[in-house]
Amino acid sequence: MQQPTRTRSLLPGPLGKATAALAVGALLFTSSWGVADARPPAEGQQVSARASSVASLQPKMIRKLIPFHHKRKMQMARYSKRHYGTRGYLLKKPRVIVEHYTDGPTMMSAWWTMANNGLNRDESPGICTHFIIDGRGRIYRTVPLELRCRHVIGLNNTAIGIEHVGTSDHMVMSRDRQRKASFRLTLWLMAKYNIAVRNVIGHGESLLSPLRYERYKSWRCQTHTDFSHRTMHRYRKQMRKLARANNVRVGRKPHWVDIGC
Ligand SMILES: [Zn+2]
Repeated sequence: MQQPTRTRSLLPGPLGKATAALAVGALLFTSSWGVADARPPAEGQQVSARASSVASLQPKMIRKLIPFHHKRKMQMARYSKRHYGTRGYLLKKPRVIVEHYTDGPTMMSAWWTMANNGLNRDESPGICTHFIIDGRGRIYRTVPLELRCRHVIGLNNTAIGIEHVGTSDHMVMSRDRQRKASFRLTLWLMAKYNIAVRNVIGHGESLLSPLRYERYKSWRCQTHTDFSHRTMHRYRKQMRKLARANNVRVGRKPHWVDIGC
């Protein structure tokens, strides 16, 4: 068990104060991954605090949208038809949050890759995620949450994507501000869409998700290694504590599937 060496509020400033009031001041971070004394509030407090806490949990973010006009929407609709069986480019009820790292040096290098809309696996549209978090913990909103992004085979019709600038999940998770921004953004998305902790997954876990569906046989075992199962196990542990402390639904334990890959 990790011993806290120092504690600091996750949510500084006015937002932090408002949320802390709702969360009965339970949200404390250590300098490591740990969350100190995240004690859940009483039953009555949970009910009254829930609706207003969703808005107050929203982290500060910078709007830096990639071009996503009619042509790209139609490409996404056709991609959905090919891979999920139904045309559509809208992300109506997201059920999964997928954590990635860019494996590149800067936020802008990732942004340009998304904006360029180049072919991926010989298909359009190009890849994108809804957010990019840079190494200093700044959250960039790159695609509106109402639109589908292509970032994880088998789940693009139901998954929100978060990219983290970095070359390993260890690098991302060892950066204090980036890690906290990641937790904070994920917590808000969980609250906003009622997504359980078990559906907060790493790209590297996508084959294990029971919600995954892919029509192309040759793509069924395709995934990436970013954000490993091991790292995400720790990540979800922290998210459970944060969710309980902020009246956000935790849900049941993960139910993984083995598709024989
Ligand atoms: Zn990825």
